[in-house]
Amino acid sequence: MLIRSRTVLPLTSAPIQQGAVRIVGERIVELGRAFELPPLANEPVVDLGDSVLLPGLINAHCHLDYSSLKNSISPPKSFTEWVKRLNSVKRQLSGEDILNSIARGFQEAQRYGTTTVCSMVAFPELMSQIPPPPIRTWWFYEMIDIRHRITSEEVVAGALSFFEESREDKRHSLAQFGLNPHAPYTASLLLYRLARACAAGNHMLLTTHVSESVEEAEMFQHASGALYDFLSGLERPMHDCGLDTPFGWLWRNGAIGPQWILAHLNELEASDFTLLGALTPEQLPHVVHCPGSHHYFGHRPFPFTKLAGMGVNVCIGTDSLASTDTLSLLAEVRRLQANHPNLSAEDLLNTITLAPARALQQEGQLGCIRTNALADLIAIPYSGPSEDAAEAVVAHSSAIPWMMVGGNVAAVGAD
Ligand SMILES: [Zn+2]
Repeated sequence: MLIRSRTVLPLTSAPIQQGAVRIVGERIVELGRAFELPPLANEPVVDLGDSVLLPGLINAHCHLDYSSLKNSISPPKSFTEWVKRLNSVKRQLSGEDILNSIARGFQEAQRYGTTTVCSMVAFPELMSQIPPPPIRTWWFYEMIDIRHRITSEEVVAGALSFFEESREDKRHSLAQFGLNPHAPYTASLLLYRLARACAAGNHMLLTTHVSESVEEAEMFQHASGALYDFLSGLERPMHDCGLDTPFGWLWRNGAIGPQWILAHLNELEASDFTLLGALTPEQLPHVVHCPGSHHYFGHRPFPFTKLAGMGVNVCIGTDSLASTDTLSLLAEVRRLQANHPNLSAEDLLNTITLAPARALQQEGQLGCIRTNALADLIAIPYSGPSEDAAEAVVAHSSAIPWMMVGGNVAAVGAD
């Protein structure tokens, strides 16, 4: 199939005016100027006209299973209050509610141009009922052991049964699996280490929430605060508190390590930057910033420029609709732009394409238009000069009219 567009924005090379991209099966095999790539005999041609064609967007962190909770929890006074509210709202959801919520989340993500999503799974028992995902999906199995320390056999068996069935099923070819020890305040060091061992043996990615709120920082650094009080009331063993920052605690104890995808890192201390600064590029973790959720909780300014300047691969995620108002990644990067007006449109697009592709170990496969990359593409109406196309993409706020995932044109909802 040959796709033509007024502008092609490959992201790994310069924009192409009057461009064309050739797709064979699920992959891109050629790209260039349209006049250099005439259609082959019997080759279908899709002419997108006045559009910019670019790689599909990648959401590095979200919880699709909370997609029905939009506006259901008003901005809380504290993170701990929100956790309590979320737990009580979650208890009221039926299995059917959650499956509907996931479907609704996919719909909204797709509508705004997401072709790959990393979604945490808080209800693994429903996994076998989730239909094949319509877009590329990394399901991350959420692991929590607040009160009861669980055995290694149980952890590994739980994680394996979570993905084994789907992994064998061809209909789930767009699904991948990873592990998500939830956060240092809900998962023990032992659970983190077991997750690491299990992931290493099964080629799975690892992600966790860390240093999200000031209350989490207070708990680990000073053994005090609302989260400390709440969790000690739940009989969580608190001997790990009062010793280090949340990030320092996990890193120095070997609970997390190189290539982990760390959601948030909002509350970092000087010692955390020293720790990060001493790491080689190969040892650095990937970081996901969620601008909407960050704003909702009123966290301190996110150190984007500082982290990026240290060589940290910073990606953007939406988090869930229980703490943000949209699953549109372009809306999220516009929030980032408002706080960091020095970032170029290319820098902003990088955080939802090339950067998360790298975090998912899919460099050259996802997040770019180049030979041999997977044909995950979106198009946005645009008739201006090619050199301004990235800015136009960042400013685009309505639904995406055209999308392709793995070489197949996907239906997307209109506005
Ligand atoms: Zn999250």
